[in-house]
Amino acid sequence: MDKVSGWSLKSFRTLLVLASITFPILIMFTLIHQSSIFYVVQGFNALAGRTHNNTTNVIKHGTQNAGGEKDRNIIRESAVDKMLGDKNQNATPGILEERAQTITNSDIGPRNPSFEDGKNAPSPSTTTVANNKLLDGLLVSSFDGESCLSRYQSYLYRKASPHKPSKYLIFKLRNYEHLHQSCGPYTKFYNNIMRKGTKLSQNNASTKCKYLVWTASNGLGNRILTLAAAFLYAILTDRVLLVKFGADMFGLFCEPFPDSSWLLPRNFPYWKDQKHIETYERMLKKSKVNSSQELLPSFLILNLQHTHDGHNNFFHCDRSQDLLQKIPVLILWSDQYFVPSLFMIPSFTQDLNKMFPEKDTVFHHMGRYLLHPSNEAWEIIRKIYEAHLAKANERIGLQIRVFNTHRASHQTIVNEIMACTLRHRLLPDFDKQDSTTSLLKKTSKAVLVASLFSEYGEKLKTMYRANTTLTREVISVYQPSHEENQKSNDDMHNIKAWTEIYLLSLCDALITSPKSTFGYVAHSLGGLKPWILQRAYGETIPNPPCQRAKSMEPCFHYPPKYDCRANSTVDFTSLFHYMKHCEDVSSGLRLVNSNH
Ligand code: GDP
Repeated sequence: MDKVSGWSLKSFRTLLVLASITFPILIMFTLIHQSSIFYVVQGFNALAGRTHNNTTNVIKHGTQNAGGEKDRNIIRESAVDKMLGDKNQNATPGILEERAQTITNSDIGPRNPSFEDGKNAPSPSTTTVANNKLLDGLLVSSFDGESCLSRYQSYLYRKASPHKPSKYLIFKLRNYEHLHQSCGPYTKFYNNIMRKGTKLSQNNASTKCKYLVWTASNGLGNRILTLAAAFLYAILTDRVLLVKFGADMFGLFCEPFPDSSWLLPRNFPYWKDQKHIETYERMLKKSKVNSSQELLPSFLILNLQHTHDGHNNFFHCDRSQDLLQKIPVLILWSDQYFVPSLFMIPSFTQDLNKMFPEKDTVFHHMGRYLLHPSNEAWEIIRKIYEAHLAKANERIGLQIRVFNTHRASHQTIVNEIMACTLRHRLLPDFDKQDSTTSLLKKTSKAVLVASLFSEYGEKLKTMYRANTTLTREVISVYQPSHEENQKSNDDMHNIKAWTEIYLLSLCDALITSPKSTFGYVAHSLGGLKPWILQRAYGETIPNPPCQRAKSMEPCFHYPPKYDCRANSTVDFTSLFHYMKHCEDVSSGLRLVNSNH
């Protein structure tokens, strides 16, 4: 008995010692994992229900009609349900679940490893996930995750980019964020300049805060391209980028800059009426006559639209930049990806070379930094991804933009797509002898179709349902929407367009349409070099049906042709080895990697 009780006492003591050692460890372990558990739950909750109220980071302006809001929401929900298709109900959180398992505590809130603090960097194992989540330092970790779920979740859906941002680019981004915080809307500097209005002045150059106001023109693809180009121009010229969004743009993106807003406040002078503002064009003419002594306007319209003599606007000349840098507020009108012009400006060359050692990554980095789908858009993206794309071994995106429906029939374009996918082994051929499905492999490919027309998704789906493939792969086809026409001032139309652009960017390979900025955004964001279809005429399938883009950069359709130094016209591909004519627009320019 004694022995037993002695043993019990001993074991009790041992247990006590063990407990006192393990209990704190257990507590620590729980604390460490709490945030990752929370994160997984948060992901699942978000998948399970719509997050209407989670768009706090997308600042809504009072432009929307409060009375019609309820009806509009019902219309929106049914539009979204249509986009999600039958599989909506069964969407499983497969990929999110799998990848979320790898999240560790270090992922939840590490301070961003920035340009200067490499010395105190965390260990490599803890930094990997954080680096993925913050896109290798492009993003900062200080945002509230709930208000913009996509910002810190996008990496779960996209393969890690092999293109790393340079340290200098990250340094410039952090500097920019600081500038935006000090000069953004409603700061002392902002209020001062806005109070001043368009009065002329001789000492504008000394103004601490200068602004670049982005305005929308053309379709969403064009708009997104100009947003990225404007942001790069703002960084290069130490200007604060403010965006003038209409009701059709408010619901698309999250705020990109920490602790500030990029939305142009409603009290901006000339929100509606820009007629009385001086233009760059007029100023350029005047400056030829009288260069230095002139009184300069505080606000200036910088028109870089393609319809506005895009080839000859002299924007890429240093003397124009000298003039422009003296103006506190530039209002940009553009529908072009004018980034190659920035590379032509000698005073920007050094900065640009350091920011982008890989020249064809400009949009890829700027776009991933700037463009985070709002919670509403993100929910659609995620649900479609989980339901229709996540389980496939490979995702192929088809972007079919038909500018002129009379040029070639839908069937010709489908035949052309098939010819392209076969030639480049993107999709398998049909087995003409055998239509049995018994030997089908489990492996599969998912085809995501983006088009205004339903015919493409339907025809492809019917073909793959009716035939067995030679490789016995199962090919599923899904088209989220078919809007029939391009619409303007329609927010749901733009949400559909944005979600489709983003979904395309999550694919492993893309086939895109020539001259389409919609396709450019998708492939550049995804870091992909697409196969670009050739323009088809009549019933003839072009040969070759498609060609691989040389670069993942978007094409600048109307680049300058004027050599500022030589005062003559020039083909800029002869001056810059990292500029090439575009495969789809022969007079256009695309940045390519220098070693091409
Ligand atoms: P681009 O005209 O092809 O250069 O592309 P833009 O995006 O600038 O303009 C076309 C507009 O038409 C888009 O913004 C959409 O509003 C609409 N659109 C064109 N193709 C599609 C598509 O595949 N899906 C959706 N949802 N909308 C499209």
